[in-house]
Amino acid sequence: MKRIVLRPGRERSVLLGHPWIFSGAVADGEAGPGETVEVVSSRGERLGYASFSPASQIRARMLSADADAPVPDDGLVAARVAAAVSARDWCEPGSKTRAVRLVNAESDFLPGVTVDFYAGWAVCQFTSAGAERWKDAVADALMDCVDGCLGVCERSDVDVRAREGLAIGGFSVMRGAEPPELLEISEGPCRFLVDVRTGHKTGFYLDQRAARAAVGRLSAGRTVLNCFSYTGGFGVSAALGGAAKVLNVDSSGAALALAKRNFALNGVDESAVEFVEDDVFVFLRRCRDASRRFGLIVLDPPKFADSKAAVMKASRGYKDINLLAMKLLEPGGILATFSCSGAMTRELFDRTLDSAAHDSKRKVVKIGETTQDFDHPVAFGFPEGLYLKGSILRVL
Ligand code: SAH
Repeated sequence: MKRIVLRPGRERSVLLGHPWIFSGAVADGEAGPGETVEVVSSRGERLGYASFSPASQIRARMLSADADAPVPDDGLVAARVAAAVSARDWCEPGSKTRAVRLVNAESDFLPGVTVDFYAGWAVCQFTSAGAERWKDAVADALMDCVDGCLGVCERSDVDVRAREGLAIGGFSVMRGAEPPELLEISEGPCRFLVDVRTGHKTGFYLDQRAARAAVGRLSAGRTVLNCFSYTGGFGVSAALGGAAKVLNVDSSGAALALAKRNFALNGVDESAVEFVEDDVFVFLRRCRDASRRFGLIVLDPPKFADSKAAVMKASRGYKDINLLAMKLLEPGGILATFSCSGAMTRELFDRTLDSAAHDSKRKVVKIGETTQDFDHPVAFGFPEGLYLKGSILRVL
């Protein structure tokens, strides 16, 4: 087996459980894409095994950070998949409309492997050279250990694959049956149609499950503005929670078309829902100019910051929409606001909201915080795994 030798001192993060070895930490050693290598410190001590990625800044991802661990093989990958799957036993294991993230990459000790499950189909994304190398073992394990698994699909249309020297592909079925055009999932009292072929990520934003439920609990009697609605997630939850009216805004016509079907699927009266295809930044200004008021506003934008360098610009974007939203709320209105930019820390997000609250000249109190739901764990030693932050505010 090939080995890589780290520069002096660079074993520290590995010993603390961080799975990534950056190119600058490697003193010596080369291997092929996805090849398993032995990782040793500058003093020659074995630290464990990793998957090598010659094209990536993240040159290797640890598979085992234990000097005495056996050499990783298909059996180890299958055992990790099985462990991740059984850790989701709290999430409707017997249900035909089950929707859950089964494998959350590094935080389930399967670097670069993401698996979401929708009503019988596991949809995988392999975003590192190592993950690409193990993908057949992952697919076989999923067929073996997931209750009611009818098929395993791959979505390899993720940009980060390019950074790993991997081809950007499309949708394919790896095992089992072709899924139908739309899959019907449930989430608490809500039902949603999911397009696993062309929907965002693997089709649905499972990470916001808990936040959608929170918005449902707070919506009764309110006029709800659901910004960045995608296929209607927060809006449907608000409607079933008793919202008087729900207005969904998104720049994607395809997302709104599916949102419309999702409201119908949940039996929401057509007269109580509106869909607006627009840029939220523009739409909020239009509402301000028309002196419109809402009882609850959801702001769940896409990632504004991809890197630490982009964070200050992103923070201005967050401040802009949050300030506008605070001004549009009725007295006692609720703002459910989120950031899924990993580079934006909770502290900076709070400071940004604080500054928006100050400029809005409204009194604002925080009534709760949310984060990615339980099926998106964060391994200790891997703080990058925590990316989703939510604040629920009451604007007086
Ligand atoms: N809240 C959703 C997920 C939102 S994902 C849920 O719970 O399912 C972010 C959405 O923002 C995407 O649907 C994307 O089309 C939309 N979007 C991105 N930029 C936008 C903009 N400037 N204005 C309006 N929508 C935008």
